[in-house]
Amino acid sequence: MRDQLRRRQYLEAMGIQTWTLRVAGVAVAEPPPADAVVGGAELESERPVPGVEVQVPPTEGYFEARPPQPAESAGAVNVTSPVGVGPGEAHPAGKGAAVEQLDWAQLEARVADCGACGLHATRTQAVFGVGDRNADLLIIGEAPGADEDRQGKPFVGRAGQLLNAMLFAMGFQREQVFVANILKCRPPGNRDPRPEEAAHCEPFLLRQMELVQPKVILAVGRISAQHLLRTAEPVGRLRGRVHAFGSRGIPLVVTYHPAYLLRSPDQKPKAWQDLQRVMQLLGDGATAS
Ligand code: SF4
Repeated sequence: MRDQLRRRQYLEAMGIQTWTLRVAGVAVAEPPPADAVVGGAELESERPVPGVEVQVPPTEGYFEARPPQPAESAGAVNVTSPVGVGPGEAHPAGKGAAVEQLDWAQLEARVADCGACGLHATRTQAVFGVGDRNADLLIIGEAPGADEDRQGKPFVGRAGQLLNAMLFAMGFQREQVFVANILKCRPPGNRDPRPEEAAHCEPFLLRQMELVQPKVILAVGRISAQHLLRTAEPVGRLRGRVHAFGSRGIPLVVTYHPAYLLRSPDQKPKAWQDLQRVMQLLGDGATAS
């Protein structure tokens, strides 16, 4: 019954209509079954462009330009910078230390001062990530948008509100999870992150993972999922199963980006299935299959 209530809260927050079954005099709210949802838009473009209805092919240009990853290390929690950079080395906090040796304060300072890729020139500020630094659930999105760049926090604005509703339906407040992005700085014009930018920024995220030690990772959206899993598969094919991330095999679930769900509400029941999978993993002690 509690699950039903949570599901209903999520669906209603998402604007999904529910109907009521009456069984032996008991009213039970039911969402439409996911497999009844049509539309099939598995291509996901999670970065909104005002006034433009975008359907961007999910893989074009992103992974084609990425250096090949050895199969055994794909997605590994390897905090060595793939490009040999020392982002923000001039900052006194942790100066000279490798990223994988930094504590939280040093890491945050390093990110704030980072100039390792061209995005530092156009950002208002770096968006480090927020939440419980000992969280069981780590949520990883793509990159800051305009609102995030202004406020210095990930997932604000309408997409952030939707993420909050999703978390609430799972039984979490935002403060109880840790939320970060693949990129810490906003790509201008809300364009997709470039492979070289993601490579430069990756050590920061990997260090955050090492520090948080999450039980489950939720990869939110195409860029996040494809980058973490080293794949060009669309989100629609990556979701619906549990991946193992890194040498520790952290269970990783893929779902749609809230910004995409705002534009494609018919996909929300599928997102709810993904969230239920995360809840099950957390409840089960989180082991990847
Ligand atoms: Fe540094 Fe990452 Fe920002 Fe690029 S996006 S400047 S690598 S913090």
